[in-house]
Amino acid sequence: MIRPLHAAVLLALALPALPAASASVASSDLATVSEQSGFVRTGRYEEVIALCDRFAKAYPKAVRCIEFGTTPEGRPMKALVASTRGAFTPDQARRQNLPVVLIQGGIHAGEIDGKDAGFLALREVLEGKAAAGSLDKLVWVFVPVFNVDGHERFGAWNRPNQRGPVEMGWRVTAQNYNLNRDYVKADAPEMQAMLRLVQQWDPLAYVDLHATDGAQFEHDISVQVEPVHAGDEGLRVAGRTLRDGVLADLAKQGSLPLPYYPSFVVGDDPSSGFEDSVAPPRFSHGYFLLRNRIGMLVEKVFLEGIPGAGEDQPAIPSSRPWTRSPRTAPTG
Ligand SMILES: [Zn+2]
Repeated sequence: MIRPLHAAVLLALALPALPAASASVASSDLATVSEQSGFVRTGRYEEVIALCDRFAKAYPKAVRCIEFGTTPEGRPMKALVASTRGAFTPDQARRQNLPVVLIQGGIHAGEIDGKDAGFLALREVLEGKAAAGSLDKLVWVFVPVFNVDGHERFGAWNRPNQRGPVEMGWRVTAQNYNLNRDYVKADAPEMQAMLRLVQQWDPLAYVDLHATDGAQFEHDISVQVEPVHAGDEGLRVAGRTLRDGVLADLAKQGSLPLPYYPSFVVGDDPSSGFEDSVAPPRFSHGYFLLRNRIGMLVEKVFLEGIPGAGEDQPAIPSSRPWTRSPRTAPTG
């Protein structure tokens, strides 16, 4: 039984029922290092820990900060649970028949725009500036950084082909696991913690935020969803509806989105063309297909910077003109 999909999309047109912000935490206290630096830098993980608590303190009736695991290097794995219906536990969400959307950044910690965009989006939803009323209709579980230890392997040259931030984390974990190849095998302790979180909340949609680098595309973002080509027939209709709605919204905002991840038919050979396919379940969007739930892979093409911001946008470090040249096959 699939709960109504439209309730899961952050585009509800309900009248805003804004959660009151606590007077003791100013809106500016919820701004990330990324925002404060004009999207040139990203913060360290201590910022995630602080913001998780600050959001919960600023919006006590709408946000909880939870810890769902510990990494091999001993760092806490943090998530924010957002609901304006008081559904701060899986039981409360189930009792109210509210769909859960889990959105994660930093599974590849060098591709970190999902963390910063997620905090910004959550603040705008809470302030009623975006998707007003949506937190009445769904529970949003936000994991700012999945690969926490990789995030703290911080340096300027971890993604040299990528336009910003100035310094960023590393692709794999401290034990060299690529988490986006580990959903079925679950070797990594971080994945075991994530799958426990998934088992508890049973998200209807799981959104995995990446940034791709290394090849120059005209398109600035790709959004790949399953079930679309495979899986339950009814859920394929829902998957297509969600994907097409998100693509239409992105296009309205000035993006040129692709409905699939642009993998070359022959690796390192752009002339072979792109291939769309169903991902195996070691990837997030292939795994959730097998759970009979929706998986969405978002790949921001970081060579393009921020959509609509123009050529002079601050997200393009002027010291790295070579980021315009394709050098390798994309890794996302
Ligand atoms: Zn990635």
